[in-house]
Amino acid sequence: MNRGAIAEIDLNAVSNNLRIVKKLSNNSPVIAVVKANAYGHGAVEISKRLLSGGVEYLAVAFTGEAKELRNAGITSPILVLFDADIDDVFRYNLIPVIYDRKKATLLSRESERNNRSVEVHIKIDTGMGRLGFAENAVKEIIEIANLKGITIGGIMSHFSEADLMDASFAKVQVNRFNFIKTELLNNGLNVHLFHMANSAAVMTLPESHFDAVRPGLMLYGYSPITSAMDSPTGYQVSDYYLPATGHLLQPVMTVKTKILSLRRLPSGTPISYGRTFITKRSSLIGVVSIGYADGFSRRFSNNAELLVAGRRVPVVGRVCMDLAMIDLTGIEHVDEGDDAVIIGRQGNEFIDAAELARRADTIPYEILTSLGNMAKKIYNN
Ligand SMILES: *Cc1c(COP(=O)(O)O)cnc(C)c1O
Repeated sequence: MNRGAIAEIDLNAVSNNLRIVKKLSNNSPVIAVVKANAYGHGAVEISKRLLSGGVEYLAVAFTGEAKELRNAGITSPILVLFDADIDDVFRYNLIPVIYDRKKATLLSRESERNNRSVEVHIKIDTGMGRLGFAENAVKEIIEIANLKGITIGGIMSHFSEADLMDASFAKVQVNRFNFIKTELLNNGLNVHLFHMANSAAVMTLPESHFDAVRPGLMLYGYSPITSAMDSPTGYQVSDYYLPATGHLLQPVMTVKTKILSLRRLPSGTPISYGRTFITKRSSLIGVVSIGYADGFSRRFSNNAELLVAGRRVPVVGRVCMDLAMIDLTGIEHVDEGDDAVIIGRQGNEFIDAAELARRADTIPYEILTSLGNMAKKIYNN
């Protein structure tokens, strides 16, 4: 999409973050989650970099996403977490995650018809309350394992608390997963790939690492456990520092736009829709090309800062569909066409997705997918 904003994607940061995942999980196989276009970063380029860094599997939400990866020449195993179209599973050689018997039966029938065999992973609901077999569904899963044309390649579950600020329920979930694992193995299931660890669990819950880890967010340089979510100052270095590895996660995405117009406006001038901001002095107002259609939420109206000339400057007035206004009064050496950074570094200043998430009462995941998916992307090797 060619609108105003540009997302610069730092592929070396991806490699750095993957090394941290490998270190924290003692080199367990990694199932890298690249759903929603790799959290807005561009699934094809991110996947290629992850695979060259030693990732064993990719995971997407829908077969359409897997199709895009296959069409780009990616041949690694791809897990489809949510909705796996049966024709696509065969055509693109995908691994569907099965969470009910109906799908298993359909797949088995189709396998037989095509004289093929399909690998599936089975999802257990240990407390997420979303998708999966109940933790006592041992008999049902064994029956699925015995269906013709189906091989169970893995058993998985998902945590309901992505940030694990309180790990007590996560530990209950791990116990439930261990229970069904033991039952399945005792009943003769021959599967040795149990996986449940999302980013937070990779970072803080080693007993959840099992045979493979399944991180998303941390590959993109953010911790789901970030204290910036609550801190009034936003970003702190400690948010990215993982003591167990001695390394920093590196945010992968920078989002920038340009100053379209600079205007000197007198005191008392209302700015943007609804006149929610009125200049209190003679002001230098910049108009930048990013709006809510670019994923820069209307919640940032009078409630965010951008970086211009290495300084933080406030968003003033309402964010529009394609544009927003910033107050540049007192900033020297600023010109039309200059960069305005929405997330990223400039000089000594840094704005991250966690800061924007806190301001919009959401999570970095939503900020990254919203901004990243709408921006034109540039990849730095
Ligand atoms: C999105 C997702 C993940 C990754 O979670 P992060 O918190 O981004 O690490 C793992 N597993 C499943 C099933 C998911 O949907």
